[in-house]
Amino acid sequence: MSVFDYDLFVIGGGSGGVRAARIASAEGGAKVGLAEESRMGGTCVIRGCVPKKLMVFASAFPDAISNARAYGWDVTLGGFDWPRFRTTLETDLDRLEAAYRNTLTTAGVTIHDSRAVLVDAHTVKLASGEVFRAKHILVATGGRPFVPDIPGADLAVTSNEMFHLPVLPKRALVVGGGYIASEFACILNGLGVEVCQYYRGAQILRGFDDEARGHVATAMQMNGIMIHCGTDVMRLEKSESGIVAVATDGSSREFDLVMYATGRHPNTEGLGLQGLGVELGRQGQIKVDEWSQTAVPSIFAVGDVTGRINLTPVAIREGHAFADTVFLGRPTKFDHELVASAVFTQPEMGSVGLSEEAAREQEPIEVYATAFRPMKTAFAGRSDRVMMKLVVSQESRKVLGCHIVAPEAGEMIQLAAIAIRMGATKEDFDRTCAVHPTMSEELVTMRKPVRKA
Ligand code: FAD
Repeated sequence: MSVFDYDLFVIGGGSGGVRAARIASAEGGAKVGLAEESRMGGTCVIRGCVPKKLMVFASAFPDAISNARAYGWDVTLGGFDWPRFRTTLETDLDRLEAAYRNTLTTAGVTIHDSRAVLVDAHTVKLASGEVFRAKHILVATGGRPFVPDIPGADLAVTSNEMFHLPVLPKRALVVGGGYIASEFACILNGLGVEVCQYYRGAQILRGFDDEARGHVATAMQMNGIMIHCGTDVMRLEKSESGIVAVATDGSSREFDLVMYATGRHPNTEGLGLQGLGVELGRQGQIKVDEWSQTAVPSIFAVGDVTGRINLTPVAIREGHAFADTVFLGRPTKFDHELVASAVFTQPEMGSVGLSEEAAREQEPIEVYATAFRPMKTAFAGRSDRVMMKLVVSQESRKVLGCHIVAPEAGEMIQLAAIAIRMGATKEDFDRTCAVHPTMSEELVTMRKPVRKA
């Protein structure tokens, strides 16, 4: 008889944990237990990518209706029924959560609806007091929003609450400049809310290509979002008719809702990791090697809790690679290079590879870029502009980075990422015949560099 109750115990039923559990059990034949303290599916399904994208869709209809009018349709925009949308959203998330549970049970995974903590290198303890011994433990506990400790911080909400608001605010302040803050600023703006965004840095979307994020910021402002860079909140105060944000620029403005999206912290607190020998980084993230193994050989960690690249597909790939390596005898490392991503602002931004700034630091480059009014909205008399950019190595001719700001940029960058991952050169792009009339044909028709650096 084995001294272990499980071959693998997974803590956390999010993107990374669910994938690892399923593969280890269904394909690796391992006996797997998984503990989830909240709802199955984790951040992505319950309070992240999925409900957010549905809100992005909801917020895009006013523009679509105004375009439709320009195209000759006799339509008018009525009001937005937030409770109706929210109810449908909640039903959809229930359906998805059930699907995740079903996938796991079909794969033979035993689900424990409970918080779990580590006791030692092979033992976990559930909130109920039940204790299990496992040959391997995978920590996939994700992260949570972080709100700075300012006076009145409890008056603010985070992305977690945005999907359950009782009513839509009339005036909202979004604090933060990352992708989550910027996306929610656009969502609220699209839904008819008056939106201010405060960010203490010089430009929103830090880390992305400067030109691309400048393009997004300008478009957001033209769409009516009041972006205040170099501005932070000093304190929040409850007033009779709302919440007053007293800011570092000397202003005091009243809002109905204040949302903080100023970063996320890994869920490692109180997990029992101290004293086990698992090393943590400065933010509390679990340090792992390229196999997602911690300093304790039986304990592995994947996803946001490791703070490598905090995106769903990355957590999934890390979880899958772990299961392949440990339970299928197929040593697999996930390669964190050239991970494409999208920011679902309006307009959307898609990026893969190096920004112009990062590439310039690395080697001599050429930059190919274009900005133009796309056919669809130009016809409707709108001034929206699309931006496309390729960052190319002067020496190898390889495309080092691609940045697109356009409707459906996320869809475009996924495909460009395949070519770039394969090592496509600028000349490979040039040899590719255009698809006409599309926006993305510009990616294969930019002939002259706009600059060399
Ligand atoms: P999670 O999905 O966070 O899962 C961790 C799970 O562990 C949670 O369910 C939690 O309840 C559980 N848990 C924690 N501690 C314990 C414990 N002690 N015991 C039991 N259970 C525990 N990524 C994209 O790729 N594209 C996007 O468009 C995108 N949009 C996002 C929008 C928002 C608003 C947010 C917040 C995130 C978004 N992300 C997006 C990021 C994405 O959601 C995460 O990268 C992904 O969910 C990470 O998966 P994970 O498995 O590491 O953790």
